[in-house]
Amino acid sequence: MNVILLAHTPEPDELVAAAAKICYRDVAAVELLKGEEKNLSRKLISELFSSGHTSTFEHVSFTFGIDGLSRVASHQLVRHRLASFSQQSQRYVKMNYDPEAVVIPPSIKNNPEALEIYLDAIKNSQDTYKKLIELGISKEDARFILPHGHSTRLVVTMNARELHHFFSLRLCRRAQWEIHELARRMLILCREKAPVLFEKAGCACIFGKCTEARTCGNPYKDMEALMFDCD
Ligand SMILES: Cc1cc2nc3c(=O)[nH]c(=O)nc-3n(C[C@H](O)[C@H](O)[C@H](O)COP(=O)(O)OP(=O)(O)OC[C@H]3O[C@@H](n4cnc5c(N)ncnc54)[C@H](O)[C@@H]3O)c2cc1C
Repeated sequence: MNVILLAHTPEPDELVAAAAKICYRDVAAVELLKGEEKNLSRKLISELFSSGHTSTFEHVSFTFGIDGLSRVASHQLVRHRLASFSQQSQRYVKMNYDPEAVVIPPSIKNNPEALEIYLDAIKNSQDTYKKLIELGISKEDARFILPHGHSTRLVVTMNARELHHFFSLRLCRRAQWEIHELARRMLILCREKAPVLFEKAGCACIFGKCTEARTCGNPYKDMEALMFDCD
């Protein structure tokens, strides 16, 4: 999986702080982004988070380029309705025939017998896809035979409020391993650009209360434990 930050709102921490200040001050927004006024208030952003005044987070957004994610994980990703997505089409783009076009779960990669069965099934499905295309079947119909684990490419945009929500759900130990890894990489990128805004982003067990009906029984102690858990 490859995740890169394609674009983001400039000065995200400062912009959220200015958006919050305008609620309580009689000053034009443009002034709040200048000189002394622009000084970032870590305490202010922290208070926004704890008071739930997180509509201010919606003013900044982050756009990611994601390659090599399986369609298993992308199906979960696109359930996040407040995000914007553009995904490689299997109707218009002919799929690769090589085994690397399919994501291999670590549990299978680390089991030689399982790996052999898996690679064999991938080859069968890719051979069938190729034959159907050669018979003149359209890509949109031939793709029905492709595995769920086939990799895809996406451009995804989320605002910071939605990112917080996404991270709280998908950095949970009970989240599926691939979307967990995607969320982890996205959070690293977000923290580089907006360290204050994303200081308290992460799994609900660290910053809030576990919302899972069946808890993992092993909550993360802190964000460092979470961020270094999966490499
Ligand atoms: C561990 C885990 C297991 C899961 N298992 C399953 C499963 O077995 N089957 C399955 O179908 N899904 C499953 N899901 C997906 C889950 O049900 C959600 O669809 C997904 O997590 C997106 O969350 P969301 O709706 O909160 O987020 P978003 O769509 O990003 O929405 C963000 C928030 O906006 C608000 N919102 C958005 N749209 C509406 C709306 N129409 N009405 C009211 N409020 C809205 C809500 O407050 C929501 O939390 C699972 C998710 C997780 C994390």
